[in-house]
Amino acid sequence: MSGDVRVRFAPSPTGFLHVGGARTAIFNWLFARHHGGVFILRIEDTDAERSSRELVEAILEGMSWLGLSPDEGPFFQSANRDRHVADALALLGSRNAYRCFCDPEQLRREREAAERAGTGWVYPRRCLALSREESDRRAAEGKPFAVRLHVPETTVAWEDLVHGPTAVHTGQIEDLVLLRSDGTPTYNLSVVSDDLAMRVTHVIRGDDHLSNTPKQILIYRALGAEPPRFAHLPLILGQDRRRLSKRHGAVSVLEYRDQGYLPDALFNFLALLGWSPNDDREKMTRQELIEAFDLAGVNRSPAIFDLKKLDWLNGQYLMAATPESLAADLRPWLEAEGLWREEYAEGRRGWLARVASLLQPRAKTFREMVARGRAFFDPSEELAYEAEAAAKHLQGEDLAGHIEALRAAFETLGDWSASSLETCLRAVAERRGVAPARLIHPTRLGVTGGSAGPGLFETLELVGRQRTLARLDRLLGRLASRTATGRGRPG
Ligand code: GLU
Repeated sequence: MSGDVRVRFAPSPTGFLHVGGARTAIFNWLFARHHGGVFILRIEDTDAERSSRELVEAILEGMSWLGLSPDEGPFFQSANRDRHVADALALLGSRNAYRCFCDPEQLRREREAAERAGTGWVYPRRCLALSREESDRRAAEGKPFAVRLHVPETTVAWEDLVHGPTAVHTGQIEDLVLLRSDGTPTYNLSVVSDDLAMRVTHVIRGDDHLSNTPKQILIYRALGAEPPRFAHLPLILGQDRRRLSKRHGAVSVLEYRDQGYLPDALFNFLALLGWSPNDDREKMTRQELIEAFDLAGVNRSPAIFDLKKLDWLNGQYLMAATPESLAADLRPWLEAEGLWREEYAEGRRGWLARVASLLQPRAKTFREMVARGRAFFDPSEELAYEAEAAAKHLQGEDLAGHIEALRAAFETLGDWSASSLETCLRAVAERRGVAPARLIHPTRLGVTGGSAGPGLFETLELVGRQRTLARLDRLLGRLASRTATGRGRPG
């Protein structure tokens, strides 16, 4: 293919950028990049009632977060209305279209009656029968009219780049309205008019537009223009094989951002939704995706949205990130929890990167990293204990005595590093004649509130001496109150 590829992503700002739309945008972007072509963004905002500036902003924000910057645009379809109207009038002039003076309300009632009766309904072409003179006369009288395409009896065939040869007989297509009687252009006219003006070579969009394609091809032909190539992407379904919707969880791209997913991970995941590189690669960089992307690799059957796979991929991206970049990315998440401190950006930048590297293999999202990193980020000694772990580890003979001895040794330890903390704990255990595990589990519980997580000694090193001692004091307080209430003793 030549370097003249021009594709567009054409969202209607009647909703946020959802994963289906983002997947369409990504496929267009990858196709353009693969062929050294142009990726255009066109906001289809002609439905003034349902579109809003806020939704436009949200779409642009979602695209920019995913790194999908357009080469041309954003263009706003509503700005092209005069051209759309002119195209419709040109079709009227060339007799590929005709004026329809029928009352839209009356037509709606006819359609509804036919639907109730279970029969199909197409516009019965009443106004096609009007003579040119009669049509001109009514228009001159100021009678409102719509402009309808005169659909010829033919078979519209195209080679869909996903579905292969596709053909539709126009017996099933009514003389579609191009311009409504209030003068507004319809979707099919505007899209064709814009795609022509923007010299779009490939229309890559969702399967939900398949039924529009023959109509649009008819408009191209009536305008004497060559239609672009079409590629219709498969639907995205939830795990239950029903159309992906809010029932399945987050559908808006920005919700994934807000949950702590990495844009590269979501990009990678969406690129594999209905497309595969024809080998078993899953984690792919943008560059690898650009090189491998090909419409021939797009699946015809629906794609299943597998959140577990997204989590896995996100975990892979977290694993591959440098601790420094993770630390920088963590900032908004810490801020959201009120756990951010200015020193993390300055003197303790290295500390934060080390904490990030400990949490890195244990979390699938940033949000989870902060939740699992409570022991490091929370300044207090008041961490809640996991009930099950507390019941399991806060027992046994003279636990308070062991912890007290450990606390004393920690207090005077010269070098507060993971390795000397370990040597110190083992020495205390030996001195007291118990296995190190007798000290390790309660200490972990006291300092982190839980029973799992990164290695205890690295954890203690990064939690720091002051908080470790304060948390051990609190643990001792809890052990003492248990003894004082005579827990487990008769009477
Ligand atoms: N604006 C249409 C939509 O959001 C897309 C039109 C097209 O891609 O042709 O569904």
